Amino acid sequence: MIDETHDPALTSWVPGAETAGGQFPIQNLPFGAFMPASEDVARIGVAIGDGVLDLRSTAEHGLLGGLGEDVIDACRRPTLNEVMALGAVRRRELRLRLSQLLRAHTVHQRETKPHLHRRVEVRMVLPVNIGDYTDFYTSIHHASNVGRLFRPDSPLYPNFTHLPVAYHGRASSVVVSGNTARRPWGQLGKHREVSPVFAPTQKLDFELELGVLIGTGNPLGEPILTSEVEEHVFGMCLVNDWSARDIQAWEYQPLGPFLGKNFLTSVSPWIVTIDALAPFRVDSPERSDRHPTLPYLRDSLATGGGALAIEVEVAIETETMRRRAIAPASIGRARFAEQYWTIFQMIAHHTSNGCNLRTGDLLGSGTISGSAVGEEGCLLEKTNNGVRSFALPSGEMRTYLEDGDEVIMSANCVRDGYVPIGFGECRGRVAPPIHYGSPTDCRGIEPIEGDR
Ligand code: CA
Repeated sequence: MIDETHDPALTSWVPGAETAGGQFPIQNLPFGAFMPASEDVARIGVAIGDGVLDLRSTAEHGLLGGLGEDVIDACRRPTLNEVMALGAVRRRELRLRLSQLLRAHTVHQRETKPHLHRRVEVRMVLPVNIGDYTDFYTSIHHASNVGRLFRPDSPLYPNFTHLPVAYHGRASSVVVSGNTARRPWGQLGKHREVSPVFAPTQKLDFELELGVLIGTGNPLGEPILTSEVEEHVFGMCLVNDWSARDIQAWEYQPLGPFLGKNFLTSVSPWIVTIDALAPFRVDSPERSDRHPTLPYLRDSLATGGGALAIEVEVAIETETMRRRAIAPASIGRARFAEQYWTIFQMIAHHTSNGCNLRTGDLLGSGTISGSAVGEEGCLLEKTNNGVRSFALPSGEMRTYLEDGDEVIMSANCVRDGYVPIGFGECRGRVAPPIHYGSPTDCRGIEPIEGDR
């Protein structure tokens, strides 16, 4: 739904909001949680230009009057869950009020200004108390590229074009951008016929994804129809689904990913609301008539205007690059609109058996890749599972991540006639493994380097 908050003519009095190429103009207004420099209790806020509007003090000083006690109470909490649970109508009322407080030439500027923090002076924290985390697999390019590595004759499993494949992940290890990614230990199976070793992963990878955060859930046993899905979505963030490919390859049969994935998942601190994304809704790519979609995953929203024009990018900065002040190197870009399944179809499918989603649940899109070289959303794809190395501007070569490498993800929405908006960044730096004895094989013998 496009309304006055998306008007491209709107500008803001907040410094930095009009910067060309800025991520947070007044048309965006993403939600997050932060710790002011002098306090140890988190507050929720909205990013605008170089600032963060403090929703707690905005609410406590009467600037949200008339929006309802539930809205004011939700804005005083340390996480976004209560705001997310308000539902689409209340959320849009709050968005409109914030837009009115922050727009240029408003009479509210003087009373609003004291509730603004400079973004560089606050520490961002995990914005949502995440209940459950599900990770999908919705990019046909990613599925085809990975499938070709292991099954050259038939890369796509037959179910891919009929349902959005997913597994249940772990919410406890979801962290906000900026947290360290410590290299995990695990059972590594190099060759299927050889017994495994227990050692730090040698194939640490990232997965470039977007996440959907659920606003209002559904009662157990009552599926969300595709026509209703939109009202249940709060917003989206960047997700880095850190993966240890050698742990994953050994453990995944027959029940799927486990310790190769659940050691860490990083998310960006700002949640771009589904309302802010309204101008960037586009049609999904054409489907082949050979793969008809079942009716419960098909409707005008799910197939028309269900895709989102979000461009995602991943960059790497090594220890050497930091030392030599070389800018992070972009190593992959892709278009989220090319995903085979939309976020609305993901939710309709997830609840089709009656499974209940709850406020604060996180649904990952799965790795976002394109079909061309340079559009790979993970190193497994980019390097053919470690076979094909690539060069960085420092002259260093990479297959998988090395200690000290920082992975930096970003996303932007661009469409003619609208002001571009961004997601900010999702960062994480790889740290050496904890001391956990020496790597050993099943005989208790330390394996020689290169044997892992
Ligand atoms: Ca994933």
